Amino acid sequence: KQPPVIVSACLAGMFCRYNGEVDGDPRVEEMVRQGLAVPFCPEVMGGLPTPRPPCEIRNGLVFGDDGVDRTEEYERGAAEGLRLARLYGCTTAILKARSPSCGSGTIYDGTFTSTRIPGDGVFAGLLKANGFTVRTEEELD
Ligand code: SF4
Repeated sequence: KQPPVIVSACLAGMFCRYNGEVDGDPRVEEMVRQGLAVPFCPEVMGGLPTPRPPCEIRNGLVFGDDGVDRTEEYERGAAEGLRLARLYGCTTAILKARSPSCGSGTIYDGTFTSTRIPGDGVFAGLLKANGFTVRTEEELD
């Protein structure tokens, strides 16, 4: 049996997005329904509430648009996600594009001006560093 894929919980329609909006992806929801995917939200697991201030990465640290350094919560949540992914035997992930946690390949530049730069979110980067294959929902078939 194939191990499940770890997926951003918001892609499974869960109430965990920073802005409090629910925005699931039907393809990911179907994967969860079939037992093929495990939903996880690193920001909520790291101790942050929903809704919460939007955050971006600047110089390797994570800041809210309120100026508060949230790096510790982001790193704690990412570590918990890695642990859960390993418990399930996952080797791949499908994560929400451009999130400061889940974004893979492209994130925002830390100025809160919707400016995109190459980079990974904290969780996506940790998974990649540990050998996981990470795709965004925009790279699904
Ligand atoms: Fe979705 Fe990831 Fe943001 Fe949680 S941290 S709401 S899973 S994009």
